[in-house]
Amino acid sequence: MESPVNPAPALVHNNAPKPPQKIPPALRRQLHPPRAVSRFARWQWRLKYDSQFLRLHIQIAFAILVLWIGIEFVAFVHWLESGGVGPVPGRPPGVEGFLPLSALISLKHWWLTGSLNLIHPSAVFIFLAIVAIGVLLKKSFCGWLCPVGFLSELHWKFGRMLFGGNLRLPKFLDWPLRLIKYLLLYFFLYAIVWTMDVRDLTAFIYSPYNQVADLKMLRFFTDLDRTGLIIIGVIALLSLPIKNFWCRYLCPYGALLGIGSLLSPLKITRNRERCIDCELCTKACPSSIKVHQLTRVHSDECMACLACTQVCPVKDTLDLKTRIPAQRVPAPVLAVLMLGIFVALTGAAMLAGLWQNSISAEQYLQHMPRLESYGHPGR
Ligand code: SF4
Ligand code: SF4
Repeated sequence: MESPVNPAPALVHNNAPKPPQKIPPALRRQLHPPRAVSRFARWQWRLKYDSQFLRLHIQIAFAILVLWIGIEFVAFVHWLESGGVGPVPGRPPGVEGFLPLSALISLKHWWLTGSLNLIHPSAVFIFLAIVAIGVLLKKSFCGWLCPVGFLSELHWKFGRMLFGGNLRLPKFLDWPLRLIKYLLLYFFLYAIVWTMDVRDLTAFIYSPYNQVADLKMLRFFTDLDRTGLIIIGVIALLSLPIKNFWCRYLCPYGALLGIGSLLSPLKITRNRERCIDCELCTKACPSSIKVHQLTRVHSDECMACLACTQVCPVKDTLDLKTRIPAQRVPAPVLAVLMLGIFVALTGAAMLAGLWQNSISAEQYLQHMPRLESYGHPGR
């Protein structure tokens, strides 16, 4: 069910392409804050009605949070490298958000044994929060919270400034490349969900390799070899002309959330009768979805970024809506729901004492000199 059509102004839709019409004032959306108000009131107006302004604030806040976690973790690792000189700086549990495979293994182990291990417990709750957001609120995690997604977005926006536009790959390249992230996801799911039994899972979880997975991850980035540098450099370079290169083609997390998002009750919904076919929505879409041709966007690539709804010049024509009943979900509501799910699941873990891991600072100190010798238990 779509929202009722305002019958007064004549914006009749037909299927043939037509030039953009003049929009009657009654149907025009207000795209900018009123001029004759204070700066603070304009800022408030934009937070409420400009989804991209609100999204940018949330992306920056989340990036700062991740940066803060990174700084704390680096301080902890420096303390370990010094052999434990001085007071122990706290290890931030949030760093486990970057261990999704460890989370998946712990989750399956939890499912099969009924008990959650405390090697990387916060990884599990962060993973659950992200998947819950994906299933309920589409891939909004990618478009609003993920720091890598934010970095990708900054890259293509910078590329647009540099080259005067972005490159859209032809379908014969785009489709097979989009498959890569699904193949990576399939590989991980097959290796973990299908093949590992309780014995394998337990062996992996309590292996020294998994216990120091966070330290090894940091080492990987601080001691990048030439191959690693070339791969990261190529991805960064390709991310300038091609929108969201990493997210669209390579990120298995994005693939998982894309599949989950198909179940989401929220969809970008276009009112065909009111639409004037200006195609602004399609031009604004970073995922190259032909929004102006669809009644509902079901694509696994839609990140609920709301860039399309923001540019639509006609009131009540393009919105994020629930399916049944068709209820509009404004950007601030989406943001509150998203952050609410994240805070609820991670907060519940904290309250239940399942946030901090069980590895003591002394155990970390013992692992530290042997870090390089720890290999993957399956190899
Ligand atoms: S369809 Fe709209 S909400 Fe979805 S990715 Fe494109 S611009 Fe963003
Ligand atoms: S839905 Fe898209 S094509 Fe239709 S009026 Fe809005 S921006 Fe223009």
